[in-house]
Amino acid sequence: MKNTKKIDLDWSTLAFSYIQTDYRFRAEWRGGKWDEGRLDEDPYLRVHEGSTGLHYGQQCFEGMKAFSARDGRILLFRPDENAKRFRRSAARILMPEVPEELFLHGVMETVQANRRWMPPHGSGASLYIRPLQYGMGPNIGVRPAPESMFTVFCMPVGPYFKGGLKPVFLMVSDYDRAAPNGTGAVKAGGNYAGSLLPHHEAVEAGYADCIYLDPKSHRNIEEVGAANFFGITRDNRFVTPKSPSILPSITRFSLEYIAREMLGMTVEERDIPIDSLDEFVEAGACGTAAVITPIGGIQYQGEMIHFHAKGEEVGPVTRRLYDTLKGIQQGDLPSPPGWVMEVPARD
Ligand SMILES: *Cc1c(COP(=O)(O)O)cnc(C)c1O
Repeated sequence: MKNTKKIDLDWSTLAFSYIQTDYRFRAEWRGGKWDEGRLDEDPYLRVHEGSTGLHYGQQCFEGMKAFSARDGRILLFRPDENAKRFRRSAARILMPEVPEELFLHGVMETVQANRRWMPPHGSGASLYIRPLQYGMGPNIGVRPAPESMFTVFCMPVGPYFKGGLKPVFLMVSDYDRAAPNGTGAVKAGGNYAGSLLPHHEAVEAGYADCIYLDPKSHRNIEEVGAANFFGITRDNRFVTPKSPSILPSITRFSLEYIAREMLGMTVEERDIPIDSLDEFVEAGACGTAAVITPIGGIQYQGEMIHFHAKGEEVGPVTRRLYDTLKGIQQGDLPSPPGWVMEVPARD
């Protein structure tokens, strides 16, 4: 008997951490084709010991969110972009691509089946969705898996910053997160295993996270932990790094559009030398989890470079970008064509 009782949690204090919800979607690829998939109540997966997802990191994932609109509709933010990126990730590590229709179907089914977990409009919380794919089945050599699993699960997550946007302080890492012609531009699990130690060391040193420089010259800003970087210049330009080893953030290119089309700013994608950060009056990191993390300061070679108000408050442009994006995602502001997709209501 399906439980439809609305979940009541303290939404404002909810963390970004795992909560088991009712259903997850699963589809399997065997004999050269995907099955139609189904919902499952069991959070455990039975994994063959020879699975390449376990041995060789043949695995990729996505991160996306669903929001409750004021009128009760459930909105997904640009899920077609996640579907495309998921295919690109799979192709780079020789896994069968999940067709976009199957990806969207899996996401919609998962949200639909767990809608009693949907945080209400204006609570600051949202439903975080995690699509995942890995190589499975009997195998031992370094080669693509004979079979593949596509699964989607979700959970309510709280506002990233409790009590509003708060600037964070970062340090530049000596480690690289990606190789110049490696897998940095796809959401493959292996990239993140290697990032655990640099992140840990940054936190131990008293920073929120680390900044990675480009792996070729170690001169330009590449990424902020698992988020993209942007800076705002004195003359109101939105500047973000250009590099083939950066993960193309959907939040970042949405902010580029908002900056250009809605706020009338000039947008530049180019090298951002770590020794020329004084051109920025504001800086931030962006991604699905936090939307925007304002950056208060960056520590590089023993020196702290500060941005707006020495990091004591959020800059006005960062605030406007954040409010605009958040407003579009929650259905409070008109959306550029195709940015929000409604999850159809049904019982
Ligand atoms: C997922 C991710 C981002 C953010 O991408 P969004 O599409 O905005 O969520 C940025 N950098 C890295 C390394 C990521 O894995």
